[in-house]
Amino acid sequence: MVALFRILVGSATASAVGRVRLPRGAHAAFMSGSAPLPTDEPGWRAVLSPDQFRVLREKGTEPPGFSENRPGQLEYELKKTTGSKYPQEGVYACTGCGTPLYYARSKFNSGCGWPAFFAGVPGAIKEVPDADGRRIEIVCNNCGGHLGHVFKNEGFPTPTNERHCVNGISIRYDPAGEQPEDMPSVLPALRPRGVPE
Ligand SMILES: [Zn+2]
Repeated sequence: MVALFRILVGSATASAVGRVRLPRGAHAAFMSGSAPLPTDEPGWRAVLSPDQFRVLREKGTEPPGFSENRPGQLEYELKKTTGSKYPQEGVYACTGCGTPLYYARSKFNSGCGWPAFFAGVPGAIKEVPDADGRRIEIVCNNCGGHLGHVFKNEGFPTPTNERHCVNGISIRYDPAGEQPEDMPSVLPALRPRGVPE
């Protein structure tokens, strides 16, 4: 995890990392697993930016297009550094605790304004039905951080017919994260019919 953190600091997400209030070394210890996860609100506020805290710990939702259009945010920086919102190597890790949550090849274009994935890393995502029973919230199984919602059987041409609609602020791209060798590419599904680029 120390190596992972170095990659994150050195990558396009460095600006997001730089907003944490603790000294960088303290956050590095936290992300490397050598420090325990925060257990209360002040603890999380100390390691997350205000925007990250609002989404991850208070279940807020970033505006549609926020990740793609705002400098420093996940998809904006992906396009700038890799030329695409859909790099085919690497993983997306939890902003709160660093756990790998999504393989790069599971990201597809749903046209909905938020990062979308057809499946989570097995065991990494917990599904929690909303109180009104209308939607299913998804959270990081390790730290409980709010990711977004999962929608099923919408007809997207992916291997699972699921859409994990994830706040970009909840995840970070790790280009060195490993995927299973048989992880399918969904490049043919990146632009479903009727969905603009
Ligand atoms: Zn987490």
